[in-house]
Amino acid sequence: MSLYLRNARFIDWQTLKIKTTHIKVDKGVSGGISFVDSIPDLDAGDNSARVIDCKGKFVTKAFGCGHHHIYSTLARGMPAPRKIPTNFQEILTYIWWHVDKCLDKDMIEASALASALYCAKNGITFIIDHHASPFNIEGSLSTIADAFDKVGVSHLLCYELSDRDGAGPREAGLAEHERYLAGGGQGHIGLHASFTVGDELLKSSVDLAIKHGTGLHIHVAEDKADQVACLKDHNKRVVKRLHDAGGLDLPQTILGHCIHLDDEEKEIIRSTGSWVVQNTESNLNNNVGLANYNQISEKIMLGTDGMHCDMLRSAKATFLSGQPVEGTGMDTAYARFRNVHHYIQSAGFKGDAGNNLVVLDYDSPTELTNENFLGHFIYGINSSHVETVVAQGEVIVEDRVLKTADESEILAYARQMGDKLWEAMKKS
Ligand SMILES: [Zn+2]
Repeated sequence: MSLYLRNARFIDWQTLKIKTTHIKVDKGVSGGISFVDSIPDLDAGDNSARVIDCKGKFVTKAFGCGHHHIYSTLARGMPAPRKIPTNFQEILTYIWWHVDKCLDKDMIEASALASALYCAKNGITFIIDHHASPFNIEGSLSTIADAFDKVGVSHLLCYELSDRDGAGPREAGLAEHERYLAGGGQGHIGLHASFTVGDELLKSSVDLAIKHGTGLHIHVAEDKADQVACLKDHNKRVVKRLHDAGGLDLPQTILGHCIHLDDEEKEIIRSTGSWVVQNTESNLNNNVGLANYNQISEKIMLGTDGMHCDMLRSAKATFLSGQPVEGTGMDTAYARFRNVHHYIQSAGFKGDAGNNLVVLDYDSPTELTNENFLGHFIYGINSSHVETVVAQGEVIVEDRVLKTADESEILAYARQMGDKLWEAMKKS
C-alpha cells in the first residue's frame, strides 16, 4: 500500500526551499519520495493507498542522532550516587560505571525500547548508539537492534570497549562486535576513550574495524584528564595516538566531543577528514568545557550523549552555548544538526534515505519562508510540533502516538526495569 502526504508544505532540508505539494512516499530501506499532482481518491473506494492529510503542516526530512547512549535511559531520577562527583573521572566512576555494570539483558531491552520511543516521537529515525554493559555484553547489540527495529528506527551500533574492567569484558566486547557485524549488523567498533584503552585493545579494534569495513566510535578528549593520561602513558596526545594506530584512516570513524585538542590534533582531524560529534548539553552538564569546532573542521554533527532524545533541543543548545565560544550562527547550528545525514551517506550506511520524514504541526505568529527558515528553526520549531513520523516509508508515529508498539507497555516495562536496576545498584 502506497503512502501519500496530501497538501504538504515540503521543506527541502538542504536548499530550505518550500513548496506545497502532494508527496508519494516509497517504502524500503532505500526508498525515496516523489511530488505528485494527484493522489488516489479514497472516497471513491480506492484502497490502494494510505493518505495522510497535511494541509497547513510542514513536512521535511526526519532527524538523526550522531552520538547516543541508550544505557543511560533508566538513570533518570535515580538515587544520588554514593559520593557526589567533583570531577569528570568521578562522574564516570560513581555514576555511569555504576549504572552500566548493573545492566542486565532485560534492562538493556527496556532502555532501548524507551529510548527509541522518545527518539521516534521527537522525529529521530536514525540513531548512532554507543553501548556499555560490562557484565552483560554478549548479545547486547542484537537486543538493542531488535528494540530499535520494533519501534521502527534505523541504527548504527557499537559496544564501548575498554580495559577498565579487565580481560573478561574486554574480550567479550571484541567478540560481541565480531558476532554482531559478521551477522550483518550495521555498526562501528566502539571504544570508551583513550584513557581506558590499552595499546593492544586499540590495535585489535582497528584490525576488527578494517576487517568489517567500518570505523571506530570513541570519546576523544572529553575532559583534560584524557590528554593528561595519554601524555603520561603513551607520550603523545589522544588524536595523535588514534591516528598513529590507523583509527583515523577509516572514513567511518566518529570522534565524540574533541573538547581539549591542540592545533596539531585539529590539523590531523582536518587532514584525515574524520567526523566529530558535538554534545553541548552533556559537556555543560559534566562541566568539561566547550570547544570551538570552527577551528577543527566543517565535519561536525550533533549528538545527545544519552542526556535526552531530542535533536531539535541539541541544535538550540548548540546555537546558544556556541555564542561565547565560537559565535555559532543559526546556519552553522542547522548545518551541524543535519550533518548526520551527510555522514551516514558518505560512510555508506543504510536507513537514512529520503523516505524518512517528519510532519510538523507548526503554527506561527509569523510566516515561515525559505528566507527566514533558520529563525523559525532556532526560535520556533521544537519537538512538540512533531506530529507524525515516517521511517523507511512506514508511519511509526501518528498524531503524536507511536504506532509500532504500545507506548504505555514500553514505559511500564522501563519503570519495572528501572526499579530493578536501582535495587541492583544499591547492592553493588
Ligand atoms: Zn558519549
